Amino acid sequence: STMPPLLSAIANAGRHGVLAKSAVVMERLGQVDAVALDKTGTLTEGTPRVTGIRPLPRTGLTEDTLLALAAAAEHPSEHPLARAVVEAARARRLPLPEALDFSSVPGRGVSSTIGGHAVQVGSPGRLLPAATGPEAAAVAELEDAGQTAVLVLCDDTPVGVIGIADRLRPDAAATVAALTELTGRTPVLLTGDNERAARRLAAEVGITDVRAGLLPQDKVAAVRHGESERHKVLVVGDGVNDAPALAAAHTGIAMGKAGSDLALETADAVVVRDELAAIPTVVGLSRAARRLVI
Ligand code: ADP
Ligand code: MG
Repeated sequence: STMPPLLSAIANAGRHGVLAKSAVVMERLGQVDAVALDKTGTLTEGTPRVTGIRPLPRTGLTEDTLLALAAAAEHPSEHPLARAVVEAARARRLPLPEALDFSSVPGRGVSSTIGGHAVQVGSPGRLLPAATGPEAAAVAELEDAGQTAVLVLCDDTPVGVIGIADRLRPDAAATVAALTELTGRTPVLLTGDNERAARRLAAEVGITDVRAGLLPQDKVAAVRHGESERHKVLVVGDGVNDAPALAAAHTGIAMGKAGSDLALETADAVVVRDELAAIPTVVGLSRAARRLVI
């Protein structure tokens, strides 16, 4: 071929399912020597399902009324956990109450006004850090089972907990192994999710360095710390919560299928087919192209 090596590397990467936004990206991808992976939607498939519904006894709510309340509040959110809640309500054919004033905070959750009440759905650790009552017991039960527990508050009072679980991508462990081989160090896991669920999943793919309960700016701090140790950090993520870290990274790659618009816009490259294993493949390709240029 008469194409310059970096352009043919872009074309090649595209064939492998990674769309680089410029030739410079391919060059940078060939330089990375450390990797930070997001959990939900990146190491996992990003189509989590509701696996437990725990209305708190004193509320008088049933599973269905709790689920409908949470789904109404989550309806406008594009977060994978929100989609799981809405889908579970749809599967049960529950009518959703009208929700107003939707807002969301990345890494924390959502809030809406429903029937004049402020309903919040999100991270137990963020919404109610000092929880001790039956809600804390329900959260612990679900998290010990490897699920992500989502707390539902009505006017700042806990009314129930919903457990959500996602499948590991089939190529997650092989991807972690290939990235370890390429960079000489095992990727780290950066997640906004709880420590218990994160560690359980990390162990399955061979990751030991787990940073859980992170806000978007904490993910940025982790990337900057890597840079301060002279690493060129590749960040792979899918969510709105990953966008700042994708921007701060030496190179950012977004998961295309489940990825949020913001992550796709911010990343330097996008995995267009849903194959995580394409990432180590294109890192290898970029290195080969660099060698040709030099
Ligand atoms: P990850 O970093 O693993 O992709 P996120 O940062 O997106 O996870 O989310 C972190 C935590 O914030 C979730 O585990 C959940 O507790 C909470 N959260 C964020 N958005 C929502 C939402 N729309 N509904 C419920 N919980 C949410
Ligand atoms: Mg994510």
